[in-house]
Amino acid sequence: MTSLDHELQQRLSALREQGLHRELRRIDSAQGTQILIDGAVLCNFSSNDYLGLANHPALKEAAQNAVAKFGAGAGASRLVCGSLAPHHQLEETLARFKGTEAALAFSTGYAAATGAICAVAGKEDVIVVDKLVHACIVDAARLSGAKLRVFDHNDLNDLEKILKWAAARPRTTGAPSRALIVTESVFSMDGDIAPLREIVELKEKYGAWLMIDEAHATGLYGKKHCGLAEELQIADRIELQMGTLGKALGASGGYICGSRTLVEYLLNRARSFIFSTAPVPAAAAAATAAIELVQSAEGEQRCRTLRAQIESTAKALERLAPQFAPNLKAPVAKPVAPLSAIFPLLIGDERGAVSVATALRAKGIFVPAIRFPTVARGSARLRITLSASHSVGDVQTLVRALDEIINHQS
Ligand SMILES: *Cc1c(COP(=O)(O)O)cnc(C)c1O
Repeated sequence: MTSLDHELQQRLSALREQGLHRELRRIDSAQGTQILIDGAVLCNFSSNDYLGLANHPALKEAAQNAVAKFGAGAGASRLVCGSLAPHHQLEETLARFKGTEAALAFSTGYAAATGAICAVAGKEDVIVVDKLVHACIVDAARLSGAKLRVFDHNDLNDLEKILKWAAARPRTTGAPSRALIVTESVFSMDGDIAPLREIVELKEKYGAWLMIDEAHATGLYGKKHCGLAEELQIADRIELQMGTLGKALGASGGYICGSRTLVEYLLNRARSFIFSTAPVPAAAAAATAAIELVQSAEGEQRCRTLRAQIESTAKALERLAPQFAPNLKAPVAKPVAPLSAIFPLLIGDERGAVSVATALRAKGIFVPAIRFPTVARGSARLRITLSASHSVGDVQTLVRALDEIINHQS
């Protein structure tokens, strides 16, 4: 054994002792509400494929057509010779969908966050993030070299305190002080919603900029299903609208929507965009098809189905376990957006969460435990997610299984 392996073995043992060790589970079927693992069909309540598009015939057909016409790989970065027609179609479709001047597609949402944040903010700036933002935002903020300040989750007073401090902060260059606020619209692990309207007002009051990550809202909220910013009618006041094409949109990739100037600047400066091979044409074409689908009558129907499932599941789970409460309280004064499709069952203890997940799996339900570093230590949970493709029977099975486990009936 090499000394590296020896050292790594010790670190892995420590992870095991803390209940934090992870491993891959091989899925032998397409993504969906029924998945095949180790020869068993399990009912899946853990994917982000909220609208059931990942295995949708329209997306598959678009991907296949793109492969037939543009090949399997893009061959180069976008700025060299990899900027294929499907990438441009995707960006035009994204900008039209979001009602922004322009859009830029990245290979992942993670790459979109790091590329955009590091391009926009630097050493002299302050980045202000909600305590619960996704790891890609934290990583980007650190990488940017900017001063990172964290405000308590959805706490507007704390945010304002930091903005006040940032506005008064002396700068070495004499240039105007800049603060970039970054938050999610629907929080990935808690399923609750940011008070975006109030955040927009604060950022305008203090002359800050705002980036919102709509990873768990794109395709789901608003009349056009653009996201929570559309639903709250504040999209045109947000400088950077970010999201992923890999969740409700069922494909793969990330995006930034905003002004033409922003997009021109990012394609010149966002390192994760510049120094990376363009996404495969199939991914771009599938994402374009998904954006068109969510705006169609079928998209509307799928959103409506999901919403009905969310409401009935929320009622059933509320009766079952008060731990589901985080998702049941909308932190905005008037709950403009309905509940999200994310239901966190907080367990706390890492090993406890794993044992509930194991018990569910024995009952044919797949919901892996979410642990540190995805969530804070001691806040391990089962993150139950719904899809428009779940049947009423699927949800009944889930609720019955949870009831048996939580109330120790089995
Ligand atoms: C999943 C996720 C991302 C990253 O998007 P990918 O396309 O999966 O890289 C970014 N932000 C949030 C909140 C997410 O949940």
